[in-house]
Amino acid sequence: MSEHRFVIVFDFPGIKEYVFGTDRLVEIRGASALLDRLNREDLPAIISKTLQTPQHAQKCVFAGGGAAQFILDAPEDRIMDLVRQLQGHIFQESGGQLRLVAGYAPFQDNYADALQQAFFELDRNKRQYTFGPEPVLHCGFVRECDSCSAMASCVTTYAGDTRLLCMSCHLKTRQGRRRGHWKALARYLEAVGLSAKTIEDLRPDDFEQIGARCQAKPGYTAVVYGDGNAMGKIVKTIDNEDRFRLFSETVSMSLQEACYEAIWDCCLQVNGKIPADILLLGGDDIMVYLAADTAMPFAIELAKAFERKTTERIGKDPFFRNLLQGKGFTISLGLAYGRSHTPIAILVDQAEELLKSAKQRGSGITTNDYYAPCCIDFHLASRYNQIHVKDSRSDHLTLNTARGRTLRLYGGPYTLPEAENFLNQARLLKRSGLPRSRLHRLGEAPFEGYEMGNLETLITWGRTRKEEHRNALYETLNALGCLPFPPWRETGETIDTPIVDLVSLTEWTTG
Ligand SMILES: [Zn+2]
Repeated sequence: MSEHRFVIVFDFPGIKEYVFGTDRLVEIRGASALLDRLNREDLPAIISKTLQTPQHAQKCVFAGGGAAQFILDAPEDRIMDLVRQLQGHIFQESGGQLRLVAGYAPFQDNYADALQQAFFELDRNKRQYTFGPEPVLHCGFVRECDSCSAMASCVTTYAGDTRLLCMSCHLKTRQGRRRGHWKALARYLEAVGLSAKTIEDLRPDDFEQIGARCQAKPGYTAVVYGDGNAMGKIVKTIDNEDRFRLFSETVSMSLQEACYEAIWDCCLQVNGKIPADILLLGGDDIMVYLAADTAMPFAIELAKAFERKTTERIGKDPFFRNLLQGKGFTISLGLAYGRSHTPIAILVDQAEELLKSAKQRGSGITTNDYYAPCCIDFHLASRYNQIHVKDSRSDHLTLNTARGRTLRLYGGPYTLPEAENFLNQARLLKRSGLPRSRLHRLGEAPFEGYEMGNLETLITWGRTRKEEHRNALYETLNALGCLPFPPWRETGETIDTPIVDLVSLTEWTTG
């Protein structure tokens, strides 16, 4: 074994600020694709070009999703030079807006210990690094970038729109014009029978094109944000690099395939465009921007496909089979609904908040530390003024009964079977042809409070003229557990109702 052997880990801090520091789809997907390329392709290529010798092979354990891990056979001073070289490359390729931090530790025979030490170093280096916004020189003669507040230096034209941009935004736009994440999706679509020319035209240019293709309610969109469950805990149990590679390949490949499948299944082309684009996809992270009516079906399909694919892949490995008791990896999802002109940063933050609450529910209902079932939470950004979901929920969606008990007017987070049942009920209600005015009244009833809400629900139901509509309403209330005191459900101390959520979702459903 070599005496100069190290485990090195990399991280790109501030990814979210870099990718979502703009409101334009082309720049967001460009930034995301650029990061993916630098992470997945450039890091391994530069490392093997710089350090590979006939005597020493450099090993990439994994690279993707804004992180990377390698085993390097080289003296420490060469590794320090390499890190500086990589940092320079990342800085230059991103126009100075993206950083790379590394941590390394000697590795003899205990991989888990070496990795832990390398992560400790990485963490220390991250803390030493300052990521605060850099002061930008402003004076009356210098124009700001049209997308961010840096100094503009390049003229860029995209989709008929000419803008004066800084170097970083220019590089993002340039990359955003290329296929990026769309490349692998295009390969998938070609494999299922679409022609290459058609696929090229199917990609939306901006958020407006996606919103315009929401068939249930034009102009409405959603951000779906997903992230693997219990990944941190699983990683800590892995004791060798081969298993680490199996783990990271399983997660990233399954998530990509699940994403393409779900887009193909749920995001049918409307007026010559697929109403969806991938904003982030790497490691166990996924973010997709879609027309509002495709978001929930997409999220459900994605979660199911991911668990199925990971179960197949890791089922062959006794270590993981034992750890997860024969199950696969899972993801949780947050869905923030809004309009195509809702600032993307708000939708992304809300989706992240919802993802966190979904994960909390999942870890609360599991008995296995390494397996948490998929949960989904969603919220309508455009209905409330609050920036945070938690404020909308506490200010507008929480009431008290006369006896001081809390009434929650939202039902989430939902487990995967609950979310599926929920979507089915929304579809059935839509298909039943129940008039919109009835539906609206049903959705408003819970805001009247405990007793009055119940009375209003019963009146809405009783005064619905057609029998089939009345039956559909009854079936829905029954299927969602809102009987015998509709629209409320009581479990222990909690009283809640999924009816407000249901009425919203019915509006986003094409039936
Ligand atoms: Zn800029």
